Amino acid sequence: MLKQLIKEKINDKILSENLKTFAESYKISKEKAYQGLNFEKIRTKINNIKDLSYEEIINLYNKFKENALKKGCYVYEAATAEDANNYILEVCKKHNTDIIVKSKSMTSEEIKLNEFLEKNGITPIETDLGEWILQLAGETPSHMVMPAIHKSRKQVAKLFEKVTGNKIDENDIEAMVKIARKQLRDYYFNAKVGITGANVAVAETATIGIVTNEGNARLSTTIPDVHIIILGYEKLVNTFKDALQIIRALPKSATGQIISTYVTWISGSYPAKNDKNKEVHFVFLDNGRLPLFKNKNLKEALKCIRCGSCANVCPVYEIIGGHVFGDTYVGAIGLILTSFYGDEKKANEILKLCIGCKTCSVNCPAGIDLQSLISDINATITPKYGLSLPKKAVYSYVMPNPALFKTITKIGKYLQRPLLKNEKIEKIPFMGKEKNFRALPSIAPKSFTALYKDFYSSKPSKKYKKSVTFYSGCAIEYFYPEMGLTLLKLLDRANIKVNIPEKMVCCGLPAIHAGDGENGKKTIIKNLKYFDEKINEDIITLCPSCGMAIKEEFPKYTINSPQDYKKSEKMANKVKSLSQFLAENRLELKYTAKYKVTYHTPCHQKRGLCFSTENFLQEILKDYFIPLKDSDVCCGFGGSFSFDFAEISSKILENKINNIKNTNAEILLTDCPGCIMQIEGGLIKKGVNVKVMHVSEFLENYTKIIEKK
Ligand code: SF4
Ligand code: SF4
Repeated sequence: MLKQLIKEKINDKILSENLKTFAESYKISKEKAYQGLNFEKIRTKINNIKDLSYEEIINLYNKFKENALKKGCYVYEAATAEDANNYILEVCKKHNTDIIVKSKSMTSEEIKLNEFLEKNGITPIETDLGEWILQLAGETPSHMVMPAIHKSRKQVAKLFEKVTGNKIDENDIEAMVKIARKQLRDYYFNAKVGITGANVAVAETATIGIVTNEGNARLSTTIPDVHIIILGYEKLVNTFKDALQIIRALPKSATGQIISTYVTWISGSYPAKNDKNKEVHFVFLDNGRLPLFKNKNLKEALKCIRCGSCANVCPVYEIIGGHVFGDTYVGAIGLILTSFYGDEKKANEILKLCIGCKTCSVNCPAGIDLQSLISDINATITPKYGLSLPKKAVYSYVMPNPALFKTITKIGKYLQRPLLKNEKIEKIPFMGKEKNFRALPSIAPKSFTALYKDFYSSKPSKKYKKSVTFYSGCAIEYFYPEMGLTLLKLLDRANIKVNIPEKMVCCGLPAIHAGDGENGKKTIIKNLKYFDEKINEDIITLCPSCGMAIKEEFPKYTINSPQDYKKSEKMANKVKSLSQFLAENRLELKYTAKYKVTYHTPCHQKRGLCFSTENFLQEILKDYFIPLKDSDVCCGFGGSFSFDFAEISSKILENKINNIKNTNAEILLTDCPGCIMQIEGGLIKKGVNVKVMHVSEFLENYTKIIEKK
């Protein structure tokens, strides 16, 4: 079912075009909107404002309630969606209305308010243009801020033709907006009840803030006699100043606007038609939120300000859109909130759609590490539904067991022989066309550990001025040992000895990413055992994903074992990429060739190890360096993701390959064997003549080392 839906969305040309166009323009406008501002400072501030314990949120709620009651409003605590719906229905019935107008509210989507009211004879009218279009189409939003992003002008024109009975020109947007305005105006005057959500709720004054671009919230709140506000407890902040911090960041991260067209502040029961004061009801929805405030880790998700940025920047969302990548809420936060408020079985499926690139985490204006939360929730839910048998076997027995891993690769070396072409496997029979979208590397004749022994046995008496430890990772150990060998050669030239752990065990990330935290942890503990007890030197990795695992997952998964944790922390502080090591050790490299070179930034190099190899290379290569468009956008690999969701992976890769072709570079560099597997394999399949190299291979082959004084 999920696979079928993914296929449908990938083949939906309108969706693909709309999402691609938006993703490109969003990046530019967001950057402009935040120009001159310190984004990191802003998101830390919002994160702190929203960092509330269970007791604090209850205090804020009590304060809000007290102030709202003083101002003549009603306040209702809805424990569940059903509770909230029933309360709203009662208010509507009391006012004898058969129609209500609604401004966009994700919380009302969460409780399926529209369906509930319709079943009870009340017609809800969505007044946000995008939401109204979807209501006419009988569809649900595919984005939290731009709900109808998946629709084309032509489709909208067709819907409006149905409403008006007249022919509509799809290119005349102004005319379409006029139609919507005219149709909706009548509803505002006929409805006795207006329903909105709230972007923020200020406890000290019982004020809510609503952000829109169309002014429809003002009409929905001012014209009808009754205003119902449905909101989650997490919308509460203490002061108006706190609320402003959120309101200022919201449009910048949502659509790249400096400020949205309308910001409406409503405080208390205010004068309405017929000289009567408006009846204002606040419906605070729990629906599983309050217990989350007690969970130090999960309560992070409640800091979300619903800007939608985590969808806007997500490479997977860009390919399949929000009807697959989420449920009521979409994007990274959608994957998380589906597990809280939605169907857990569905959450288990869609959590696997995260490729783990961390782009959402670094873009979230509320400072939520979304990828890490997704990974944690996935590790909690997956065991309930189980992994496929082959995956379970690999993560339980092969990954933590170097001897077995070695035996399997030995067998693999023989089995792969009939499939090899120029040492690559271009097609695996019976795997299906969509999974064969790239050539795969073959298992190397000799492992890295074997090459390592050969290398140092030829230099028994060489004296080195310092040493480092190298964590090779599985890809280099079995598929790309020559990359590791270039590291030995390069550092040997600088008189640096490379040590390796007693045995090479997987870093644990593949198991953790698949939702098998238990085996991920087992693998991490094994690794700790094989690393030198007194490790005090830098740990270099040529795979940023392994590096990120050491940096983030090792301490996380050993937090309850003081001795392991101590060692993990030490390792986390020592791990770095080759480029960072060279830069810190003031080893200047002089380029000795004339190739035009470009660079793809691996996700976990930028957002895990957090060192810019791109800047480092630019300094060495000067005019020979050609920047790659969207260099830091994922290549679509993601380990087993590229097999499980090959159609998505290949689409993401397609964008990367087009950008590489546009550089006219002769060599593409990157510092991740996984990215090399994906990009090189894709280039081979497409017949694109660009050489792909690891930074380590390139530096060893084409640079001279000059030590800075
Ligand atoms: S999680 Fe962050 S990026 Fe995503 S919608 Fe919420 S605030 Fe925006
Ligand atoms: S980590 Fe990457 S793939 Fe996963 S939700 Fe975030 S942006 Fe999307």
